[in-house]
Amino acid sequence: MVTKAITAATLGINSCKIEAEVDVINSLPNISIVGLPDSAVNEARERVRAAIKNSGFTFPLGRVVVNLAPADIRKEGTNFDLPIAIGILKEEGISIPDDDSIAYLGELSLDGSLRKIAGVLPLVGGLKNAGIKTVFVPAQNAKEAALVQGIDVYGAEHLSDIVNHFTEVPITKTRIDIDSYMKDCEPKDFAYDFKDVKGQQKAKKALEIAAAGGHNILMSGSPGSGKTLMAKCLASILPPLELEEALELTKIYSVAGMLRADEPLVTIRPFRPVHHTASPNGIIGGGANPKPGEISLAHRGVLFLDEMIEFPRQVLEVLRQPIEDGEVVISRTKFSVKYPAKFMLVGAMNPCPCGFLGDREKQCTCTEYQIQKYRARLSGPLLDRIDLIINVPRLTTDELMSIKEDAEPSDKIRERVLKARKIQALRYKNEGIFTNSELNNRQIKKYCALDKASSDLLQAAAVKYQLSGRRFNRILKLARTIADLEGNENININHLTQALQYRVDMN
Ligand SMILES: [Zn+2]
Repeated sequence: MVTKAITAATLGINSCKIEAEVDVINSLPNISIVGLPDSAVNEARERVRAAIKNSGFTFPLGRVVVNLAPADIRKEGTNFDLPIAIGILKEEGISIPDDDSIAYLGELSLDGSLRKIAGVLPLVGGLKNAGIKTVFVPAQNAKEAALVQGIDVYGAEHLSDIVNHFTEVPITKTRIDIDSYMKDCEPKDFAYDFKDVKGQQKAKKALEIAAAGGHNILMSGSPGSGKTLMAKCLASILPPLELEEALELTKIYSVAGMLRADEPLVTIRPFRPVHHTASPNGIIGGGANPKPGEISLAHRGVLFLDEMIEFPRQVLEVLRQPIEDGEVVISRTKFSVKYPAKFMLVGAMNPCPCGFLGDREKQCTCTEYQIQKYRARLSGPLLDRIDLIINVPRLTTDELMSIKEDAEPSDKIRERVLKARKIQALRYKNEGIFTNSELNNRQIKKYCALDKASSDLLQAAAVKYQLSGRRFNRILKLARTIADLEGNENININHLTQALQYRVDMN
């Protein structure tokens, strides 16, 4: 007799339904798994055998053949242990219903207890879409699974709990109140606040615009100018996550295995500082069994590259595609996976190798050649993808001393950002985007129309500064955000003039 148990396999941050078919053949005792499994799935053989025996059940005498179908989908991870065990127990005549609307996900310990697995949210989401009504998961993943509405979730501590569920003691269904988790999205205390940053009005305004429209920004300034501190303050003026964004982000953290059992929903917009010594795989995503990298963990939030110019050229160039597409594709010989990566790129750098070019107190010691070589590390095509490039001068001691009044606190700035974001959300409610930075070429034509005077100005600037088509469009999107911050329905020449200021010739 062939039995089967329904389960699922992750594909990026999505998943598809898999059937674990089990057959026992009269032959020497053995267990084999077919259907494109990776090494972690193959190791299931030993875990399942021990778990079944140690849970007090008998293991079939004969050759156990497990087929994970369909065979053309690559299976990785440890969530196949439980469905394989369930299939085997059914073969042994244990009373578990033959019901194709029930699915099983989980890793087994040798003693039969169930271990937390990665990717539960996308796995359960995929199962629900495939028409599954009930899913059994490790107890530690139950809250995360219950984020998916419209499917019954049972969290089990042990393999025997599931058998008992059908015969003796039913497991309590896991329910969660998403609204109560969403309350955690509201702004709380932030470690860094703009009220602690003296002066730097121009940089602060640029960061406000960046936050309002989700634009990429690069700050160039001497050590001590406060550019790193201001980047960190950015987290305090970003809008709270919408439910849709929170769920999307949670899927990424779920697949990365970074969710905590007691906090199943990611409620804080990510701010991911990345060091230039981090591995390319760690930044972009990858590995033999691909995992999301920093650019995906920063989805819907900020990817902060301090000392951006020190990053390996190879890493910076690879960033270009995700910045453009909002997702990253990781290709392997036999398969590829896709992860979302709509992040706000925030970079900080020194203006020259010694750091003091343009400083009013310290002398720059670099040669013209050294400065040119240094700046050339950021390629033109990469700079074309950064909407705002600003100089952040270091304040002189006298200037710092002369500032008496308190700086504007972050919550005041956030109010303006939120207002501008609301305007965008309303305008793009049928476009499937949230911010101006996400506008595609068609949408730019529709939403960033210019009057005659503005159009003439932009054309003249395009010729004078030899603007690429990409930069041209980015200036339009930026002008759109500046208009939104001012509550103007139309972009006027003033907005456009401001937008044109946020470019510094780096090369
Ligand atoms: Zn220098």
